[in-house]
Amino acid sequence: MSFRRACVIGHPVAHSRSPLIHKHWLNELHIDGDYLRHDVPPDQIAAFLRNFSASGFVGANVTVPHKEAAFRALNQADPVATHLKAANTLWLENGDLHGMNTDVYGFLAHLDESAPDWNQRDNAAVVLGAGGAARAIVYALKERGIPKIHVVNRTVPRAEAIAAEFGKNVVASGWGDLPKRLREASLLVNATSLGMTGQPPLEIDVKPLPSTATVYDIVYVPLETALLAAARKRGLRTVDGLGMLLHQAVPGFEKWFGVRPQVSGTLRAVLLQDLGAKARA
Ligand code: NAP
Repeated sequence: MSFRRACVIGHPVAHSRSPLIHKHWLNELHIDGDYLRHDVPPDQIAAFLRNFSASGFVGANVTVPHKEAAFRALNQADPVATHLKAANTLWLENGDLHGMNTDVYGFLAHLDESAPDWNQRDNAAVVLGAGGAARAIVYALKERGIPKIHVVNRTVPRAEAIAAEFGKNVVASGWGDLPKRLREASLLVNATSLGMTGQPPLEIDVKPLPSTATVYDIVYVPLETALLAAARKRGLRTVDGLGMLLHQAVPGFEKWFGVRPQVSGTLRAVLLQDLGAKARA
């Protein structure tokens, strides 16, 4: 295979860990290729994507704030991107721009791997947040047949919009209802930016959760969030955010470089070292 280049596009994009992931796989699999960061300001994204076939890249990951613009630029989209109207993985096929959304896949792959029986109980799930990540997670949980999904958000109309979009077993709430919602939940997911380094803390009491519940925080900086620490202290099963980031990268790499890579302990260690180094910096 000839030399190939892919990239991550976003604004800003300097924080993205995607190059670390894809360069690790390129090295590990002895593939002649590269993966770069490409900062595209919002006023240039439409033109950049329109001319993507002339960019020299075989494909791209897309991060904030361009996932919706990327979807609008596609000639072909997979069913998940079509539903979410947001694409995070792009590739070229016969000059056409194709795209998919792998956040749903990444979220579920890591949950299945970390807590294989998470879906065996006929209980509800509680999703904190109503942004782009929360929508992808509600899609994932619906796809797995979770009978009731509570979307809890500061701005209740955003949670209500998700409930309206996904149907009657998705219920919107404000933070005041959280203790009641937690009592019947077998899965709690934090999909807000609270608890992330530089953001306000996520201050919730995990006591009402049943002792069999799983707590998943998709924030991965820091990796051990206060939510996960509190859940672990209570003896609950916990799932961190790093695995979602690693798994969502797999389908794109396979499209661009022709080999399906593995999310290994070695890759996780590479990312952990980088996150640790950044935390100490
Ligand atoms: P987003 O669209 O900006 O949504 C942010 C969410 O956080 C909204 O629900 C917002 O509530 C809530 N929020 C922010 N500040 C708040 C505050 N002070 N008090 C209460 N709620 C607050 O962001 P996103 O793209 O969904 O991402 C959310 C988080 O997930 C980020 O930390 C991101 O890094 C992480 N993430 C991780 C992965 C992974 O692979 N692990 C993938 C995607 C995203 P309002 O609606 O009220 O503003």
